[in-house]
Amino acid sequence: KAKEAGGNMYAFYAAAMSAEIKERRTIEEGLRRALEGDQLLLYYQPQIDLRTGAVAGVEALIRWQHPERGLIAPGAFITIAEESGLIVALGEWVLKNACLQSQCWKARGLAGLRIAVNLSARQFKERDLLATVTRILTETGLDPATDLLELEVTETTLMDDMGKAAATLGALRDMGLKIALDDFGTGYSSLNYLKRFRINTLKIDQTFVRDIARNTEGAAIASVIITLGHSLGLTVVAEGVETREQLEILRAAGCDEIQGYYYSEPLPAAAFEEWLAAYKRKARG
Ligand code: C2E
Ligand code: MG
Ligand code: MG
Ligand code: MG
Repeated sequence: KAKEAGGNMYAFYAAAMSAEIKERRTIEEGLRRALEGDQLLLYYQPQIDLRTGAVAGVEALIRWQHPERGLIAPGAFITIAEESGLIVALGEWVLKNACLQSQCWKARGLAGLRIAVNLSARQFKERDLLATVTRILTETGLDPATDLLELEVTETTLMDDMGKAAATLGALRDMGLKIALDDFGTGYSSLNYLKRFRINTLKIDQTFVRDIARNTEGAAIASVIITLGHSLGLTVVAEGVETREQLEILRAAGCDEIQGYYYSEPLPAAAFEEWLAAYKRKARG
């Protein structure tokens, strides 16, 4: 009887497994088509300077407008893109389109808006990232020294080959790009990284932001990250800020910039422009 149940369990797992493999393959093939077709798009989420109230920059976040499934968030396909290697082409698409958007905004009088792009670990490893970035800058005419382009990396990305990562980040900085350490506090948070890599910005992960109004530990961790960042001369951005209460705690702790639903969800370019115009009108009173 037990053996029979075990057999059934096996059949159950095997079925579930093959369904998962099938789904992965579907996503992978779909993503390949999405890259060729016009199904990928970037959403933009503002980052607000807490001292001035100005919009300091935006983070570009990828979305997939699937012909049958509708709008798909990156959580459902980035890992698959990484495992299949498609992330390299996808990452180039993101960088290029963010640069084009930056040029477009500049042409329409929105200069000085920093654009942040997420980089996957594989983009660091697989190809000559510097050559790719240089090519895209040339193709789009973007000058990172004046046009404020930021790359977001995570600790995991830097961990693999620290020597190479340090050299790459150094070269990107020399080209005028800015580097943000994303999801800070969720990885090893080794102080060694902060000393070794030429980082501009620390992004406090949203898990801590979620906790700051709930318990004293959350607030303490956020406060420590802010103090640490400032003592190293870094800008500190809190992500995932949803409430006024979270914002005020972060402001009191000296956080530089805020990103989160409290101000705006990530929006398509045109909707972001409308949001920005309304935000500026409100700020003028
Ligand atoms: P991330 O880089 O840490 O981006 C922040 C995520 O938090 C975004 O999710 C954003 O929509 C979400 N978020 C922002 N404010 C709030 C808030 O107040 N509350 C809540 N609950 N969430 C908030 P999204 O767009 O789904 O992206 C998820 C992750 O996917 C990103 O995390 C990033 O790791 C990855 N990703 C997105 N776009 C790209 C890309 O172009 N390339 C690569 N390699 N990864 C990307
Ligand atoms: Mg990010
Ligand atoms: Mg993050
Ligand atoms: Mg994240």
